[in-house]
Amino acid sequence: MEERFDKEGRLIFPEKGAFPAKAKVIVRDKNILVTQAYCRNGHNLVRGEKIWDGNRGINLIGKIGERKVNINLSPYQGDNRRVLDGIIEKGEIVTLLCPECGTELEIFSPCGCSADIVYMYLTEELDPRDSICVCSRFGCRYSCLTSRGKIVSEFTV
Ligand SMILES: [Zn+2]
Ligand SMILES: [Zn+2]
Repeated sequence: MEERFDKEGRLIFPEKGAFPAKAKVIVRDKNILVTQAYCRNGHNLVRGEKIWDGNRGINLIGKIGERKVNINLSPYQGDNRRVLDGIIEKGEIVTLLCPECGTELEIFSPCGCSADIVYMYLTEELDPRDSICVCSRFGCRYSCLTSRGKIVSEFTV
């Protein structure tokens, strides 16, 4: 398995053919680009303006207590760029919601930082074995992609 290191974390790269074609994950030049991600009700969260090098980002609502902040995450795995329409402090644990139906993203597992890792579905079939997972702690960069129930790429810090 190919690995890439940078000063802020480590991206474990997927092997060739790791993703089902329906996931439409683009693996190229040491970048992993997610082009679709669904809530459990089938809303595509990759939407809006193509502001990420010509690609759409992952749009979520972050809820912290009574506060709600619109979040647009870079669709590249391991890339911590994001656009917010409000303020979230680094380290805050955010409940992540679908902006369309308000459903909460489901829990994948606990993160090393002690917050929950939540997931979105990678395909329209909404099979939880094909998923994109992110940590719910703002500023924690953990993320992983699963295919058929196995973690095939992972960004750890
Ligand atoms: Zn939804
Ligand atoms: Zn974390």
